[in-house]
Amino acid sequence: NGVRSSISDGDSNLPLPQSNDRSWSDTSAYARKKVLQFWVQLPNGNWELGKIVSTSGEESVIVVPEGKVLKVRSETLVPANPDILDGVDDLMQLSYLNEPAVLYNLEYRYNQDMIYTKAGPVLVAVNPFKEVHLYGNRNIEAYRKRSNESPHVYAIADTAIREMIRDEVNQSIIISGESGAGKTETAKIAMQYLAALGGGSGIEYEILKTNPILEAFGNAKTLRNDNSSRFGKLIEIHFSETGKISGAQIQTFLLEKSRVVQCTEGERSYHIFYQLCAGASPTLREKLNLTSAKQYKYLKQSNCYSINGVDDAERFHTVKEALDIVHVSKEDQESVFAMLAAVLWLGNVSFTIIDNENHVEPEPDESLSTVAKLIGCNINELKLALSKRNMRVNNDTIVQKLTLSQAIDARDALAKSIYACLFDWLVEQINKSLAVGKRRTGRSISILDIYGFESFTKNSFEQFCINYANERLQQHFNRHLFKLEQEEYIQDGIDWTRVDFEDNQDCLSLFEKKPLGLLSLLDEESTFPNGTDLTLANKLKQHLNDNSCFRGDRGKVFTVAHYAGEVTYETTGFLEKNRDLLHSDSIQLLSSCSCHLPQAFASSMLIHSEKPVFGPLHKAGGADSQRLSVATKFKGQLFQLMQRLGNTTPHFIRCIKPNNVQSPGLYEQGLVLQQLRCCGVLEVVRISRSGFPTRMSHHKFARRYGFLLLENIAAKDPLSVSVAILHQFNILPEMYQVGYTKLFFRTGQIGVLEDTRNRT
Ligand code: ATP
Ligand code: MG
Repeated sequence: NGVRSSISDGDSNLPLPQSNDRSWSDTSAYARKKVLQFWVQLPNGNWELGKIVSTSGEESVIVVPEGKVLKVRSETLVPANPDILDGVDDLMQLSYLNEPAVLYNLEYRYNQDMIYTKAGPVLVAVNPFKEVHLYGNRNIEAYRKRSNESPHVYAIADTAIREMIRDEVNQSIIISGESGAGKTETAKIAMQYLAALGGGSGIEYEILKTNPILEAFGNAKTLRNDNSSRFGKLIEIHFSETGKISGAQIQTFLLEKSRVVQCTEGERSYHIFYQLCAGASPTLREKLNLTSAKQYKYLKQSNCYSINGVDDAERFHTVKEALDIVHVSKEDQESVFAMLAAVLWLGNVSFTIIDNENHVEPEPDESLSTVAKLIGCNINELKLALSKRNMRVNNDTIVQKLTLSQAIDARDALAKSIYACLFDWLVEQINKSLAVGKRRTGRSISILDIYGFESFTKNSFEQFCINYANERLQQHFNRHLFKLEQEEYIQDGIDWTRVDFEDNQDCLSLFEKKPLGLLSLLDEESTFPNGTDLTLANKLKQHLNDNSCFRGDRGKVFTVAHYAGEVTYETTGFLEKNRDLLHSDSIQLLSSCSCHLPQAFASSMLIHSEKPVFGPLHKAGGADSQRLSVATKFKGQLFQLMQRLGNTTPHFIRCIKPNNVQSPGLYEQGLVLQQLRCCGVLEVVRISRSGFPTRMSHHKFARRYGFLLLENIAAKDPLSVSVAILHQFNILPEMYQVGYTKLFFRTGQIGVLEDTRNRT
């Protein structure tokens, strides 16, 4: 079945070892090939390099570096590469391609601060968790001039620019990896390079300044990463015909808004709250009635206020400067800060019970009056919105009083909505500022920095959406690197033995099938007035249990077999998070505000509610705005994203986190291996090594290099011209194949032609 389990086809002269194949233990075959060293797996799972002392029967005696002698079953030995291959910069160069060899190679490089390694067409980046001297103008210049050719994000960005110009095709740089693996840093490094090469108009400076803004409002300290992005981001950078940056557009995905009102011990809410509390000037403090972070319940609950090595006050100034640069006016900035303060004060609004049915009213204290003042509404209306709910029942409106827990929910929903709208509004302002070169005639390079696969002990709706997105991206990766590649060989009639790859279509269908897929069933249950998290779980089990990627467990629990492993989800909160309804009373409240931001938020919410997806109103739930469900909206965004990426030449960067404690110099084999397996790095190398990744039509090849021919055969057909070029440049027959319409090359073959062409 899958190729994930055993990867070891290093030497084509040796039988391909299967995990249960006797040939694997035939160490004599390796002896003939003069393999001197083997990998031995120690009981702790780590691999150690050893030499065979003797072999008898099925056992071998191995000596490992410290002189220790081990007796192991011969079949568990994995051949190691000769020392001369230590630390090669492309895993394709390894003679023996197996998991320990790849792990060792990455570690060898990592220990010398060579954090980048190619895996065929994919760049692997291992997070150094410290400053490495690989960046800045001198290095950028070296990659631009190609005087440095070692693997680097710069090299990827450089290729993207060149291919955009050469092929006249839009490009994308797709960055993936677990939380804390370095995606956001990598995206910034790529942006730096593009800005340096395509700069000149000044707009590149604005583009770089979007980073501190988006990070302040969309990143937070989590247990896994002090600067974790809680949203996905696609930035599309536009270039003019001359290769200069003319503008950019940012699209964001699924901000984790629950964090605004709720966050686990040791984590923080969004950076901007702490930055504001620490960095606001005395005048601003007074205007916003701002106190310290410790006084706000939303921030207090996780008992974590600062991040090692980070000065929040200083960051606040950086953010303000960045806002200036992307043309957010001082007035607007002040309104933004007022909204943030309103959210914080809203969290401090408390309720008193007013009757014996547990109905409540907000305490008329400083927090309530400050919220009203900051958003510009009448205090009584705010009070009403937080304690009563208007419901339409058969054309009549009845007023329902809220119980304590309902009132808290209403308050938190309002806070979350204000924050999420504020985030979207900011992105919109940034986009307006970046859309200077309105003529979008040129080409673009898009950089995608989106949350990686997540699997925790408890997985909820957020992980469900994130992992669904990762399935989609993985399919894009598979399609591009495996499927399309092989289909192209076969279509063009070249000699080719198919390589298996793990297809995740079944899992995607489990999510997307209509009407009986996870998303459809979730939406359906979300429209039912009596739907609960338990009825959802039961429904999923009832309809999906015979799907091979699905397993129903006890109670509210179900498990999905993702490409990267099984994840067990708990449906608690699924329906509410998917509905994500803000009561019409709260929307009304915002639209009645005298400040322009709340008004803008209210109208954006009303626009979204014009597209009914839930079908009938779910009046009994008390909410009556019809908005797209979160899952459906997200699915739509993903489809649009895949469509956009589908029209680009992709460049993949896989970020790897070498340890879970954010420490430099610590490389945990098991952790790295699990990530390498998840993202299919080894299969990519395998297929690339046996494949022909570079290809060009006869026509294009003849046109591009024909002028280099010594004899003049320009009148001939493209195929003859192409063949003549191949001969003239002595490209070895095993290095290329001639298809019906295209020429196919193994990696690195076209370099000499390009170099000669560029010199002439
Ligand atoms: P998340 O999914 O949580 O957003 P991420 O993959 O975006 O995580 P980053 O925030 O990019 O992870 O990286 C986490 C931390 O690792 C950074 O704050 C930085 O300290 C360190 N780091 C990542 N890449 C590099 C690098 N190239 N050089 C130095 N440090 C790095
Ligand atoms: Mg990030």
